[in-house]
Amino acid sequence: MADDRTYPEIRDGVSRLCGKFPGEYWRSLDANREYPTEFVKALTDAGYLSVLIPEAYGGSGLPLGAACAVLEEIQRSGGNGGACHAQMYTMGTLLRHGGEEQKARYLPGIADGSLRLQAFGVTEPSSGTDTSRIRTTAVRDGSDYVINGQKVFISRTQHSDLMILLVRTAPREASRKHTDGMSVLLVDLREAVGNGLTIRRLDTMMNHASTELFFDNLRVPAENLIGREGDGFRCILDGMNAERILIAAECIGDARWFTEKSAHYAREREVFGGAIGKNQGVQFPIARAHIQTEAAALMVQKAADLYDAGRPAGAEANMAKLLASEAAWAAADTCVQTHGGYGFTAEYDVERKFRETRLYQVAPISTNLILSFIATQQLGLPRSF
Ligand SMILES: Cc1cc2nc3c(=O)[nH]c(=O)nc-3n(C[C@H](O)[C@H](O)[C@H](O)COP(=O)(O)OP(=O)(O)OC[C@H]3O[C@@H](n4cnc5c(N)ncnc54)[C@H](O)[C@@H]3O)c2cc1C
Repeated sequence: MADDRTYPEIRDGVSRLCGKFPGEYWRSLDANREYPTEFVKALTDAGYLSVLIPEAYGGSGLPLGAACAVLEEIQRSGGNGGACHAQMYTMGTLLRHGGEEQKARYLPGIADGSLRLQAFGVTEPSSGTDTSRIRTTAVRDGSDYVINGQKVFISRTQHSDLMILLVRTAPREASRKHTDGMSVLLVDLREAVGNGLTIRRLDTMMNHASTELFFDNLRVPAENLIGREGDGFRCILDGMNAERILIAAECIGDARWFTEKSAHYAREREVFGGAIGKNQGVQFPIARAHIQTEAAALMVQKAADLYDAGRPAGAEANMAKLLASEAAWAAADTCVQTHGGYGFTAEYDVERKFRETRLYQVAPISTNLILSFIATQQLGLPRSF
C-alpha cells in the first residue's frame, strides 16, 4: 500500500513533467553552461515549487516531505533540481521569521512565479565552513542598511529576483556567542545590481550557475530585515536543516537514477558472450549501492517527519545528508564502472550526473563537519575547534 508520507501523486506528476525534459536537454545546458529556464518555468507553473508556501499566500501548504518528493523525483529522472531547490529551503527562513507584512508582500509573487527567490548568500572567501567569521557588514544609516563585503559560490543570483543574505551587524569579538551579531536581509537583486552590487560568474565542475558577489555601499531598506537584528544565525538555522533534508532527498533521487541505470546496462551489455550483470563482480556493487540507498532513504524520511512535526531535527538532518550523499556517490562510482568506457561519454549522462552528485559531500555542509557535529553534540566528545 502506498504510504501517504511518500506523496505518490506528487511523484507521479513530477515524473511525467520531467519526462518532457530528457537527457539531451540537460546535456546541452551542461555543455553550454546555461540555466534550465524552461524546466524551472514548467515546475513553477505546475505549482511544484510552491508546495511549502501556505495556501493563504497562494501555495499548497504542504510539509517538507512533499518538497522532498518533488526534488527526489527530479534527480531520479536524470535532471537537476539544483537550479531551483533554494526556493524551498530559503522559504523556512521567510516563513518562520519573516513579519506578516513581508510575507504578504513576497509570498504570493513567489507562489505564482512572478518573483524568484533562488539565492542564499552565506559563504565568503574567508568563511565557508565557519559561518561565524563572515566579514560582510551591514551598518544602519537612517532607514537603510549599508552593505559592504564579498560573497563567493552564491548560486543562481543571475536567475533570481530576491536573495536571502547573511551579514554581520555586530563584530564577532563583541558578541556574547560567536554566532550572535549576524542578521538576515532580503535583498531585491533587481534594484541592487548596478547600485552597489556587482555579480561575477564563477565557473565550477558542474553547471550550477554559481557567482561571486561584491558589495560596495549597497543600500537595503531596514524593513527588509528578517527576524531580529543580531539573531540572523538562528533565523537561517531552520532553513539550513530544511536544506540538508531536501538535498539528502535529491541525493536519494540521484542514487536511484544511477542504480537503475547500472542495472539496466548490466542486463543489456554483453561481453564474453553473456550479460555483464551475470558476473558477481559487476552485480554486487550495484546491489550494495541499492542497499546503501534504501537505508539512507529511511533516515531522510525520519528527518523530514521530525522537521514536519516541529521537533528538533538537527542530528537527523545532518545524518540523512551524510548517508544520502555517500550512497549517491557509491552509486555514481558503481555506475561509471558498470558502463566501462561509456561511463565517460557525455551521451550516457552518467559522467554529468557523476560530477553533479559529487558536490553534496562538500556543500552545503561538508562530511567532516557533520561527523564533527555528531561526535561533539550527540556523543559528547571534545571539540577540536
Ligand atoms: C557549486 C557550489 C555551489 C554553492 N552554492 C552556495 C550558495 O548558493 N550559497 C552559499 O552561501 N554557499 C554556497 N556554496 C558554498 C559551500 O557551502 C561551501 O563551499 C562549503 O560550506 C565549504 O566551505 P569552503 O568551500 O570555504 O571550505 P572550507 O571551509 O575552506 O573547508 C575546506 C575543507 O576543510 C574541511 N574542514 C574545515 N574545517 C575542518 C575541521 N575543523 N575539521 C575537519 N575538516 C575541516 C572541510 O570539511 C572542507 O572539506 C556552494 C559551493 C559550491 C561548490
